[in-house]
Amino acid sequence: MLRAGLRISALRDVHLGKYDIIVIGGGVTGLAVAYDLALRGLKPVLLERNDIMSGTSGKYHGLLHSGARYAVNDPEAAYECAVENKIIKEIAGHCVEDTGGYFVLLDEEEYYDDFKRGCKENQIPVKDVDVGEALREEPNLNPNVKAIVEVQDAVLYAYKFAVSLGLAAKMNGADVRIYSEVIGLLREGKHVVGVKVLDKINNRVYDEKAEITIVAAGPWSGKIMNMANIQNVKMVLTAGTMAVVPYRLSKKVINKMRVPSDGDIVVPYGNNSIVGTTAYVIDDPDNYTIPPEDAEFLMEEGSAIFPVIRKIGFSRMYSSIRPLISMNEEIDTRKISRRYEIYDHEELHNVEGLLTVIGGKFTTARAMAETISDVVCKKLGVKKVCKTKETKLPNPIEMLNVEQLRTKGYPESLIKRLLEKKGTIDEELLMNTLYVLIASSLW
Ligand SMILES: Cc1cc2nc3c(=O)[nH]c(=O)nc-3n(C[C@H](O)[C@H](O)[C@H](O)COP(=O)(O)OP(=O)(O)OC[C@H]3O[C@@H](n4cnc5c(N)ncnc54)[C@H](O)[C@@H]3O)c2cc1C
Repeated sequence: MLRAGLRISALRDVHLGKYDIIVIGGGVTGLAVAYDLALRGLKPVLLERNDIMSGTSGKYHGLLHSGARYAVNDPEAAYECAVENKIIKEIAGHCVEDTGGYFVLLDEEEYYDDFKRGCKENQIPVKDVDVGEALREEPNLNPNVKAIVEVQDAVLYAYKFAVSLGLAAKMNGADVRIYSEVIGLLREGKHVVGVKVLDKINNRVYDEKAEITIVAAGPWSGKIMNMANIQNVKMVLTAGTMAVVPYRLSKKVINKMRVPSDGDIVVPYGNNSIVGTTAYVIDDPDNYTIPPEDAEFLMEEGSAIFPVIRKIGFSRMYSSIRPLISMNEEIDTRKISRRYEIYDHEELHNVEGLLTVIGGKFTTARAMAETISDVVCKKLGVKKVCKTKETKLPNPIEMLNVEQLRTKGYPESLIKRLLEKKGTIDEELLMNTLYVLIASSLW
């Protein structure tokens, strides 16, 4: 039996490399996995082909789900979200704006009872709200709303959360390498013993070895699995478009109370409001464009919630891809579950040393990391339990290590000037700049 915290590879006959685990993908899932493993005393390295959060995670809708959206159609995902909603608010308070949310009934009145029942069955707290009072709270809401139910939705700031996870991973011994693209898997018979990496900064190719390689590459996971000739994991790549209103329309996250569909949600994200989303199946995550009709569609759906959107307009649009997993050959993208899956390719495909974590939500990334890290620990004989549930993530701004920034070559004057903006009218803008500097000093 291995002592937890002991380097695994040092105990094998063949010296595999500097790391116990390679994590492919620097989205929220990969970062959460690297952090969880490092917190258990293992030594992971995360490889990201571009900057962190350059995939789906950096272009999501911004919603820390309460679970209510999935309460009727996707109860397991709903329950997972409800549990994680509480945990993320607790461990990453500095990344969350605990706005609360309203589900507003505009049409589909028959859905109201199903919605309330679904929330109750999945232990999702809800509260009926007086429409008049809610309209005073949220004066931009459509005055024709028929009923309003309050839920515990919140806003989760993507980059803050990512930098906090990355910092926590690094503080616990993980390495994060950006612009490091996995271009092949290293095999010894049926065992994946590492990866071939293209270092895009220095334009060189090298091998990195480890006991276990984890695919956390979101919509690109199929491409990595193909490198091991694994083709039978049925992913339905579903792109979704979001539109940015350059104005904060509400205090709370607003969801239409109806069977989950396109254009249901408006999230107040800082000073903007994000209207979304659409859903259309694509073939290649590296080659797709936003359909031109999405702008008018989101205008139509968004202004049904906030009529004033028609006057303000959109400042920009962006899109990203859900790596959904289709069980039972389901192809209706709103019917495919938002649950996540862990694939142990040894059991499923006779390929050892390779695991994949896929699906899920931004909201459930911590839970996904916990589940796959449990599998890794079991495989490696490491008896360390997950501690991410109860361990608060570091707040990068509070942990700011000016010395570290200095050694990265940032001029003293720049660091000082940014820090001095605390308490000024532009604090938010410049603290965000600081996040980028902190991230660049970490990886
Ligand atoms: C339109 C839309 C809106 C959404 N809104 C919400 C929401 O409001 N709330 C919520 O909880 N969830 C939301 N989701 C779901 C959530 O965004 C995703 O579940 C989550 O971001 C997936 O994260 P990930 O890390 O698995 O994938 P990604 O963020 O895509 O990360 C994968 C990473 O792998 C990297 N990579 C790919 N190939 C390689 C390679 N060969 N070598 C190295 N690196 C590689 C990519 O560059 C990428 O950075 C939304 C999804 C979509 C599509």
